[in-house]
Amino acid sequence: MPTYDYECTKCGHSFEAFHSMAAEPVAKCPECRGKVRRLIGTGAGILFKGSGFYQTDYRSTDYTKAATADKPKETTAKKDEKSASKKDAKKAQ
Ligand SMILES: [Zn+2]
Repeated sequence: MPTYDYECTKCGHSFEAFHSMAAEPVAKCPECRGKVRRLIGTGAGILFKGSGFYQTDYRSTDYTKAATADKPKETTAKKDEKSASKKDAKKAQ
């Protein structure tokens, strides 16, 4: 049975709980009955890092899109380029 690490968001009490993955996760702190969050050991660090990278990627993609969208406004003759760069952006994603 896997071990789960929990940390109370109210009093900061951290504890381990054993239960199957199918079982209901622990939701209350045994000390103060406050709300707890589950820590996923080393995997959590990777997860958090991953979401951080994703956010950075998303932001830069968003910025690129905005920059690309601004350019064609300068001249209507570049309409074809606009649709072409849109396709490229989709491919990149
Ligand atoms: Zn607590």
